[in-house]
Amino acid sequence: MTEYKHSVSLDIEKCKGCTNCLKRCPTEAIRIRNGHAVINSSRCIDCGECIRICPYKAKKAISDKLDAIKDFKWKIALPAPSLYGQFDSLDEIDYVLQGLLDLGFDDVFEVARAAELVSGYTRRYINRPNSIKPVISSACPVIVRLISLRFPYLCDNVMPLQPPMEIAAMLAKKQALEKNPDLCESDIATCFISPCPAKVSYVKNDATDKKSYVDCVVSMSDIYFSLLGVMKKAKPLLPLSRSGMIGIGWASTGGESSAIFNDKYLAADGIENVMKVLDQIDNGTFPDLEFIELNACNGGCVGGTMAVENPYIAKARLQTLKRYLPVSQNWNRKTAGEDDFYIPDDYIIQSELEYKPVSQLANDTNEAIKKMADIQAVREQLPDLDCGSCGAPTCQAFAYDVVKGEASEDECIVKMRMRIKELLKSDYAKPEKESAENDSK
Ligand code: SF4
Ligand code: SF4
Repeated sequence: MTEYKHSVSLDIEKCKGCTNCLKRCPTEAIRIRNGHAVINSSRCIDCGECIRICPYKAKKAISDKLDAIKDFKWKIALPAPSLYGQFDSLDEIDYVLQGLLDLGFDDVFEVARAAELVSGYTRRYINRPNSIKPVISSACPVIVRLISLRFPYLCDNVMPLQPPMEIAAMLAKKQALEKNPDLCESDIATCFISPCPAKVSYVKNDATDKKSYVDCVVSMSDIYFSLLGVMKKAKPLLPLSRSGMIGIGWASTGGESSAIFNDKYLAADGIENVMKVLDQIDNGTFPDLEFIELNACNGGCVGGTMAVENPYIAKARLQTLKRYLPVSQNWNRKTAGEDDFYIPDDYIIQSELEYKPVSQLANDTNEAIKKMADIQAVREQLPDLDCGSCGAPTCQAFAYDVVKGEASEDECIVKMRMRIKELLKSDYAKPEKESAENDSK
């Protein structure tokens, strides 16, 4: 199995082993070993929660630099819709798009445009008689990875549609080749401006069945200040933006759902809320809904760890920005195909979402049952404090590590202290007992 490439990483020099991230990680991917955090790559979903919580800035998101595409003949910026919410008093999206051209891009293709197309095809997908309900959005890569690691029975509910970033990159490349017949595919580079590290990982791992059309992913916070510099220059603006309300709406929670034009949906955000929703769908105690939009970050993409602005302020700005826009500028029934269920192959993820059991104890069932019993036996000896001082987030996780051979029972400090106390007691008790016996002689 190829190793998953992550964008969330640790700076060991800065880490103090304080256990804050250990407690926060939703997939129990972190342990403290030798005084610093260690991330288990197979469990990490790149949610960025550890980046948010670390008081020492020891966790960071690794993204590309613009230099990565400097040698390409034709460079296309793909701004996420959340980028527009980062700027104060922005009354025209075109300021941002023009700014990107001024930074050296040859063209801009808004991801919001592709989002409108994905919304159109989502409506068709939900209406297909064979789609498994509730249909779960595939737009947030953290959610897709979480389901593939923890919720085997929900893998088939995940909508097999490419996310807007991928569609935008594909369309941008097609458009560039049409506009510039002297270019060939290898001359063109697409650069997604991302609010979150999970999208970096998505591209690095070619997360679906084929190589991503996105060539480089830069952090929104990296490009923000350069953009501010060029956007200040007053100049007549070209009419560049072609996004509508639906496309911009994707930046925050509820935007994707409201575009399905169907009331039977739920939109949730924040990793803890999302896990509760998934647990409920999984155990069958979920209402009869058709579509579920889940975003790992609070507020949706505007809350990504690579965004600059407070997500709720960004959302409020986007509401103002989209107020006078048409509902959609990109979905057109004629060009999208007249058939009510038609979705082009390019938009569909052909491979099935695979369950990757990271907590599997053994391939053999009898062996796995035995190990579960061993975990329970270790667990019963532990103090049940979930204190984290052993380097695992909970006593249960520690017992699992012990049985897997990744930790030793002696690393439970509470248990160790109790043992030392008992030893000391018996050592001191011995001479006292001896002297009492001598006195009585
Ligand atoms: S929060 Fe995690 S990464 Fe940050 S210092 Fe504490 S243990 Fe290290
Ligand atoms: S990015 Fe999320 S899943 Fe990965 S180690 Fe950090 S908190 Fe855990």
